[in-house]
This record gives sequence, C-alpha cells and structure tokens, in this order.
Amino acid sequence: MFKIKKKIQEELKSIKEKKGFKKFLISFFITSIIIFIILFLYILYVIIEWNFEKKEIIKQAEIFFNTIEKETEEDFLYKNVGGKEHSLKNVKIPITVYDYKGRVIGEFTTEKRNYIELKNVSKNFLFALFSTEDDEFFFHDGINYKAIIRAFFKNIIRLRIAEGGSTITQQLSKILFTTRERSIKRKIYEFLCAKEIEKRFSKKDILLMYVNLIFFGHGAYGVENASLLYFNKKSKELDIGESALLVSLISNPYKYSPFVNLTSSKAKHYAVLKRMAEVGYIKEKDVNKIYKDFWDKHFFNQKDMYKRKNIVKTNYCPYAMEEVRRFIVDKIGEEFFVNNDGAKIYTTFDKDLQVYTLDTLKSNLKWIRNESFLSPKNYNSIQGAVIMTVPYTGEIRVMIGGDGFTQDNQLNRVFQAKRHVGSALKPFLYISGIENKVITPYDVFEDKEVTIEIEGAPKKYRYWNVKNYRDKYRGYLNITEAIKYSSNVIAAQVAYKTGVEGMINIISETLGWSSTETNTRMPEYQLSLALGAVDMSPFELNKLYTMIANMGEIVEPFYIYKIVDPKGKVIYETQKSIPKRIVSKEAAFLVAKMMREVLRPGGTAGWIPSNYGLVNVDLAGKTGTSQDNKDIWFNMINPELVGTVWIGEDTNKRFSKTITGGVGAAPVLAAVFKKALETYIMGSFTYDGLSLVKQPVCILSGKVPAKGKCDEYVDYNALFIEGTEPGDYCSLSEEEHKKRAVMRSLQAEKEEGF
Ligand SMILES: [Zn+2]
Repeated sequence: MFKIKKKIQEELKSIKEKKGFKKFLISFFITSIIIFIILFLYILYVIIEWNFEKKEIIKQAEIFFNTIEKETEEDFLYKNVGGKEHSLKNVKIPITVYDYKGRVIGEFTTEKRNYIELKNVSKNFLFALFSTEDDEFFFHDGINYKAIIRAFFKNIIRLRIAEGGSTITQQLSKILFTTRERSIKRKIYEFLCAKEIEKRFSKKDILLMYVNLIFFGHGAYGVENASLLYFNKKSKELDIGESALLVSLISNPYKYSPFVNLTSSKAKHYAVLKRMAEVGYIKEKDVNKIYKDFWDKHFFNQKDMYKRKNIVKTNYCPYAMEEVRRFIVDKIGEEFFVNNDGAKIYTTFDKDLQVYTLDTLKSNLKWIRNESFLSPKNYNSIQGAVIMTVPYTGEIRVMIGGDGFTQDNQLNRVFQAKRHVGSALKPFLYISGIENKVITPYDVFEDKEVTIEIEGAPKKYRYWNVKNYRDKYRGYLNITEAIKYSSNVIAAQVAYKTGVEGMINIISETLGWSSTETNTRMPEYQLSLALGAVDMSPFELNKLYTMIANMGEIVEPFYIYKIVDPKGKVIYETQKSIPKRIVSKEAAFLVAKMMREVLRPGGTAGWIPSNYGLVNVDLAGKTGTSQDNKDIWFNMINPELVGTVWIGEDTNKRFSKTITGGVGAAPVLAAVFKKALETYIMGSFTYDGLSLVKQPVCILSGKVPAKGKCDEYVDYNALFIEGTEPGDYCSLSEEEHKKRAVMRSLQAEKEEGF
C-alpha cells in the first residue's frame, strides 16, 4: 500500500516534470521563432533599403574609381594656394575659408590625396596587406566565409572580438558609406555591398581603390600619403619592415600609431611580421632581424609628423587659418574636417591687409633683431603680434600671431602672449577719472619724481616711488600733455587722487572678466596698475581700445561670420552682440581727443603721421613701453579701425636698451593704416551732439585764462564734461608762466617715443 502510494507519487512527479519540460520547450520554440521572424523582417527591411541606396553607394565607388584612374594617368598640379607649388593630386573638395570680401584665404584639405597606380605600390606592402587582412583575396567573391568562421572561433577562444574576418572588399565597402557608425545594419550593408562590388569591378580595380582610400591615421588616406607621413618616402620604396608597420595601422590607426603609442605599435608590428612568416611571404628566422632593424632605423616624433603633414595643407594666412581650425575643433569638433568636403567658412579677416601686415611685421622685426643686443641665435624669439578690429562691429580684420608660422612655432601671440602693457594702460586711468568727474583733460600736475604711500597695501607695495622714463621731467603738465609725453609721475598722482577702482571696473567690464579674474589680475591696492603693471594679451588691449574708438561702447570682437556645410546649411553663425556701454560718449571722446596729441609733433609717436602720409587722417594713439623695454606696444585708433601691435622676446628677456613703443612698434601700425587707406574709408572722432562745454583754458594752470598773462598759452578748443569746466581765473604770475613754458621745452629735442 505504502509502496504503491510512493510509486504513484513518483509517476505523478515525472508527469509534472515532463509537462514542465514540454512547456519550456514550447515557449523556447515560440520565442525563437519570434526572434527569428523579427530578425528576418529586419534583414528583409535592410535588404529592401539597400536596394534603394545601392545605386548611390555604387555610384560613389565609380566616382572614386574614375578619379583614381584619371589622377594616376597624369600628374596634375594642385591649384596653387599661397605657398609653394605642390604636385598634389586631389579629388576631395576642400573646405574653403573666405575673408570678409569673399576672397579665399585658405583651404582645409586634410584628406588631400596622392593617388597611385598599383604598379607603383611596393610589393612588400601588398604582401603584408594580404597576409594580415585577406590572404584569400583573389579566391573569394567578396566574402570569405572560412575566415569569418575562423575569426568566430578565435574570438571565442580569446573571449574578445580580436578578428573580424572582413575581406579587403568588405573593408572597401565600409569606406564607401558616409555614415561610419557601428550597427547591425551597417554590417549587413557591408556584406551586400562587397558582393555588389565584386560583381562590378575586377580584383585589381578593387585593390587599386583600397590602397588609395584606406585610412592610416593622422589625416593620411591611401598608401602613398601614409608612406610620406610615416616614412617621408614614396610607397614604391617601402621595405618589408615599413610595409608591415603601415599594414599594422589599418585595423586601428590611432591605437597602433607609433606617434601615439610606441609600445602597442611595436607589438602590432611584430604580430604582422609573424603573420607574414606564417603565410610564407618571409622566413620565420628573418622576423626578429627585420623587426630589430626597423626600430633601430626609425624614430617617430610628433614634430616630424607635423612637418610632413604640411604637404597636405596650404594657405595664405596661417595664423588666421590656425585660429579658425582651433575654433572649429572647439565648437564643432575635429570630425568636421573629415565629413565636410565643400563646406564654406566665412570670416571677418581682410586677406590683403593680413598679408601686408605680416610682411610689414617681418621687416620691422628684422631691424629690431639687428639692433638687439641678444645674440643672433635668439633672434627668432624676438617676436611680435598685430590685431586690427572694426570697433563698431567687432569684426577682426587682421590677426598676426608672430612673424613666421612654422610647424615648430604656432603660438598665436595675439591671444596667447600675456605681457606687461606699460603706459598703454594710462588712457583707461584717465577715462575713469574724467567719467567720474574727478579730473579734466586740463588739470595740471607737477611733473617730478614722487613717492606715494599706499595705505593698507602689503609692505612690498607700501611706498611707491615713481620716475619718468629716462628721468625726464617737464615741470608742470596738464593731463592732455601728460598723455602726449606719457608722464609716469602724473599718471601716478592721478591714480593716487582717483584710486584705481574705477579703472579696474572699466577694464574688467570691457573684457568681460569675472570678479575672480579681476581680483587676481588687477589687485586693488596696487596703484602701479595705472602705469600698466598688469599682463594682457594684444587681443585684450585691442578690445579695450575699440571701446574708446566706439565712443564708450564695447562690441564683442569675433572673426567667424558663419560656417556653411556642403549642403548649404548654416551650422554655425556668430550672433551679433548687443553693444554694451562702458563709459559715456563724452568721456570716450575726450580721451580720444587727448590721444590725438600722441601723434602730434612732440608726442611719443609724433613722428609717425608725417613720415607715413597719415597727416590728414583723424588718428589717435598710445604707445607703451614696459620696464626695461621688455615689451613695446602701440595702439592706434580711428572710428573705422583699431590696431594694436606688441613686440617682445618670447621668454621675457630684455632685447634692447633703447627701442620704445613709439620707435619700434608704431611704424608697423602706421604702415598698415596707410595701406588700409586704399580700401577703408576712415572716419573722424566728432563731438557733435555730445554734451560737452567748450571753454578756453590756460594750458599752464588749467584755469580760465587771465587777460594779458595767459594769452600765449590759451587753448581755445578745450572741451569739458558739463560741470567740470574751470571757474577760477589763472592765478599764476607772469614769471611762473614763463618758467613753466621754458621747463617743458627743455626736453623737446630729446624725444624718444616711449
Ligand atoms: Zn595762465
């Protein structure tokens, strides 16, 4: 009884288990069918889609093929853009960069190709290629099923996807798709496309396309370009070791690039040589020797790479072009250059003026280097930068970051050199004083050595002793004259009187600094800021001066109008910035008026207008010379154009004892402004409509002229912000008038223009 019960129980259990198993089987079966159907439908869908797109993709292959054929038949000279003529054969439409008038300033041609015929490809390369990529290339119909199965098992053994089993034809198919994302769809496409290509092209033609189109990293497409880039030789001359290296790059150009990762490059190179021996192209015993010889002979440093890359890039305005490149990498990404043949980039630059400025800077630097006491081996580190901007639009017309753009030296000093600005900052002290009605352009100060105690400053800055450049003093000067002669001691006294906070605010607002940046770069207790004890880039200083030239309003400078992709779609456009008022029109005008004096006889750049034919142009300027003449500056403004030039030694060495901003930097801008007159209509600073009061003033006292005593020293065109005009009569004696007049004239002959 008991036994039977147990038996029944067991039977029941097994029936249950069987039932469960059956259930499982059925659901497994159904799921599989569903998955299979979905997969089948998907593949069907992809195949249908493929049939729609097939024509386009095969057409692309035919275009490639025809171009390669045509280009390899005859050498054609690549259109000469700027630099030297290169007999480059090019099929890719370049990305073109235009200046503000639609003139081409350069082209990005990262994929410019040298096409070659098969007979000009080293056999070594082809052997290495077949060994590793497709050893049955001549025997399959586009797909190597054996290789796929082999790769599948190898991958299982290694527990990772190490081999794809893709044939050369499949890899070529991959190149033909414009979208390069990884997906099942693409895999199916590759498969179908390979079949199609094999139907339409001979094996030789497929190979011809492949060797000319495959990517080897660092912008090099095709074996000839890769050979030039990695070994600086033609692909015909590749030996076994070199061929193996190029082939080692195909599966992952950056991972195995010797320029990027020497260890993995070496390992992969060795593996390729081993594989070549396995297949029988070389002897097993030679592998180590070839490997060793190769790495003894070849060194890969990035500098060489960039030098060699130069063969695929030419342009007129290297600094501007490099800045455009950086801009795009930053805003859009590096891939822009790979996927946008025929794109157009519209910039604000002025090609003619840019080219002219570079020439001018070069010849100017030449004489400065000759005058320099540095040894000739340091000459190239005496450098300069120029930037010119349209103040009311913010368009940067000229941007020169040095005297020669080379692969070793791509520093764009316009943005990257932050240097002592010296006297070039004084106008911003005065503009703040005038804006806040603490000073007027005619306030008189004593021009003599001063020591100023700065309360609350750290010990180091507590007692501030100020002298003039070369200890030249002129007795008494008004502020207009102080800017003309660039008096340090008067700027210091004004800074003491007004404080530097107003000036700091104006500067940081104009440049858009955060409060942290402002506090680090311009600490408040430091009155010496008024004398330019602060580092700025030429771009920053230029921006400050555009604010004055634009009558107190800042418009954000920019250099790219828009970027248009090959289909004509605008993918980037600079939004017009809303002008931001920093100081009143009145204050800006008064400072511009004061700065005119710098370019008049006796001023620190007083020799410029007559020597450069600029007498009839309304120009204002300011020189700058930092401590020990380490940095020399010149800024020149007109309502139409604002220019800034800096010259100095790259590592901040002293390069001259005598060359000042007025002597060494001003001529560059003078020549460029003269050139600009050919195409720009210069404006003039005007006070029409401004609330300024015109009132005669005695220039020796800054007061209302007293009849008789002041007659010789009256400025009848003095202008004041309403309410700041002087009310008292000049109280200086006749004798004091004469004394002051004589004292300032004593220095007149020895102008040096600092
Ligand atoms: Zn007087």
